[in-house]
Amino acid sequence: MPCEQGKRETREGLVVVRAGDFSEWLRGTEAALQSGKDSADVPCGSCRGCCRSSMFIHIKPEETQTIQRIPRALLFPAPGLPKGHVLMGYDDQGRCPMLVDGECSIYKDRPQTCRDYDCRVFAATGVAVDDWTQGEIAGRVKEWAFDYDSEGSSEEHRIVREATAFLQEHRDLFPPGRLPSYPVQLAVVAVMVYRLFANMTAKGHRASDADIAQAMVSALSEGC
Ligand code: SF4
Ligand code: SF4
Repeated sequence: MPCEQGKRETREGLVVVRAGDFSEWLRGTEAALQSGKDSADVPCGSCRGCCRSSMFIHIKPEETQTIQRIPRALLFPAPGLPKGHVLMGYDDQGRCPMLVDGECSIYKDRPQTCRDYDCRVFAATGVAVDDWTQGEIAGRVKEWAFDYDSEGSSEEHRIVREATAFLQEHRDLFPPGRLPSYPVQLAVVAVMVYRLFANMTAKGHRASDADIAQAMVSALSEGC
């Protein structure tokens, strides 16, 4: 991770945390989504927002080391998923039970879900975080500031945000249930389809909204 990532500084009178170059972040996120293996390298610093945000943590059956570290009583079958997939809940203050004295007590063996989570996806797409249940994450998202070092970086950010706005404004053009209702999942979908959106909205060649939505549905079905 470049050393300036995660640095806190003041820009135009606002305290921000540097999120890194936008295009670099986008390439890394796309690669992680395609491989399904890479973990996000988020410059969290002292933030533990996602460990205190009322999240159910999904753990796959093959994560045996992780499962061994968590008391059985804290795990329950994940609804709608095959046998062996489990969820870990949170306490009445929204904290993960593995968070002890403000640190993850199983950090080396933490679930893949925790390794993958990157709240910069909200800053990248403009999808809102629920301030009420996930205030700490929302606070951090407001602080993230991307850099635009590489050629076309700010243009890519604009397209990702426009693709996100399209998804949010045209839900009615998608089959019921095809777009996720969870904000983080919608943000991930936006990253998955922004290239398609860019191609179909190129200057002078904008396809109809219905055709764009249809193409997105096909691409998502193929696991673009
Ligand atoms: S909310 Fe974001 S910055 Fe904070 S711990 Fe989670 S991923 Fe890291
Ligand atoms: S397992 Fe660790 S990293 Fe994951 S939410 Fe719990 S405390 Fe945070």
